[in-house]
Amino acid sequence: MKKEHVVITGGAGFLGSHLCDRFIEDGYKVTCVDNLITGNSENIAHLHNNKDFNFLKHDVSKPFEIAGKVDHILHFASPASPIDYLKFPIQTLKVGSLGTHNALGLAKLKKARFLLASTSEVYGDPEVHPQKETYWGHVNPIGPRGVYDEAKRFGEAITMAYRRTHNVDTKIIRIFNTYGPRMRILDGRVVPNFIYQAIKGEPLTIYGHGKQTRSFCYYSDLVEGIVRLLLSDCSGPINVGNPGEFTILEFAEMVLKISGSKSKLVYEPLPTDDPKQRRPDITLAKKHLKWSPKVKLSEGLKTTFEWFKNRL
Ligand code: NAD
Ligand code: UDP
Repeated sequence: MKKEHVVITGGAGFLGSHLCDRFIEDGYKVTCVDNLITGNSENIAHLHNNKDFNFLKHDVSKPFEIAGKVDHILHFASPASPIDYLKFPIQTLKVGSLGTHNALGLAKLKKARFLLASTSEVYGDPEVHPQKETYWGHVNPIGPRGVYDEAKRFGEAITMAYRRTHNVDTKIIRIFNTYGPRMRILDGRVVPNFIYQAIKGEPLTIYGHGKQTRSFCYYSDLVEGIVRLLLSDCSGPINVGNPGEFTILEFAEMVLKISGSKSKLVYEPLPTDDPKQRRPDITLAKKHLKWSPKVKLSEGLKTTFEWFKNRL
């Protein structure tokens, strides 16, 4: 029987490359489409000799074609770290809007299932805590983070429009802060920043007072949630993340403990519109996907720390 074919946009990035691995392991044919704007070809180098893997270097904000049948499209292309989307604001808006439109057009043409990588950022700086899928969010459209948040919100809207108008089988996942091996060490997100600083003995940069909270999910838990959503009858939007909630100060202490580093803490200004709190309500994921995270932050952080240490 012919293998099912999965197209993964953003497949050379942190999450996308783990998805390429997972679908190859599960016996699919995989096409990764990526322009490498924030990705790294090393993330997929080990797959290049695999006959079931193809790489297409392309900016998905421009139309693209894939030969033959396509069964599933996972749209993960987008700068994802605040540093990246502040550096590439227009590319971020384009990939969330034009890129999502192009990927949905391909799904319609191929009669493929479509999964959108959305984000907890659609909730903005949330006034409802923890965040449930029914919450519409609190986003500043004209602030610097608006380029990412609004692009993802548009992505959700156009995904629903293709579902309603063209009957495309769509799924929307709202991903909460996910970390692990293959993050870019200098991508500016708190996990690689603190690990890098701890390894180098530099001060850990706490933005604001460090009282803001985040909930960190290990990549393998997230990948399992994505696969379950893709293969389920559920269309979402559905939150997938780890409900364990930590202040950034608590997180810094944990990095120091795991690394054994003597780095000090230094306080820097809080970025504009930095959300004060974030924790997923995962009731829906538990109910519809029978999913909940397995990896504790202390365990995932240890593995991630070792991975970075071996590469620095
Ligand atoms: P990443 O930067 O490592 O990966 C994104 C990938 O998309 C990169 O390989 C990049 O080169 C590619 N890309 C960007 N614009 C493109 C374009 N126009 N055409 C083709 N490829 C393009 O980031 P990540 O953390 O792996 O995030 C992947 C997806 O998951 C993103 O859509 C992001 O918004 C979403 N997400 C991630 C998190 C997280 O915590 N990691 C949280 C919420 C949502
Ligand atoms: N942060 C920090 N120091 C850093 C990097 C980030 O204190 O060196 C904070 C940031 O202000 C935010 C949280 O850590 O409150 C998570 O930031 P990240 O960029 O990882 O992701 P976000 O959840 O903001 O998209």
